[in-house]
Amino acid sequence: MHSDELEDPSLMAQSDPDPGLWARLEHALAIVERDVRAGGITGPLALTVQSWDPTGSAWVEFRGVCHGNGLRPGAGHDPPAALVQVADAAQETIMEVTWTVWPVCDVHDLGLHAELDHGTAVWRCTGNGTHTVAPIGELGQRGVHQR
Ligand SMILES: [Zn+2]
Repeated sequence: MHSDELEDPSLMAQSDPDPGLWARLEHALAIVERDVRAGGITGPLALTVQSWDPTGSAWVEFRGVCHGNGLRPGAGHDPPAALVQVADAAQETIMEVTWTVWPVCDVHDLGLHAELDHGTAVWRCTGNGTHTVAPIGELGQRGVHQR
């Protein structure tokens, strides 16, 4: 389906992110994926580089689809910030592909937002003021209801 993405090796080389940063983004995506699976969402989730994107951004691809904004090269220097960015990108793509709001606050039935809270990447809800629902990667342990 995406074989044409790899046809231009010069573009791949030029846009290849720093391998250390890439590894950090992949690690962040693995953490986010725990929440995705805990939400009962299935389908391939991957970090990709798109041949049509000259900025060399990393994209979160879900079921073969990318949506929203890529992660700029250099994202991932700070692991908690990388986690927020990856969670945000995954959320945007998953919501676009599945047409559902994910993840959702159990109490207020509102979509959550990935944010930094005192240096920790968390899912926050804007219901009743603002509250932190769970650290990113630990939603499943909070019994978020499945829709
Ligand atoms: Zn809430």
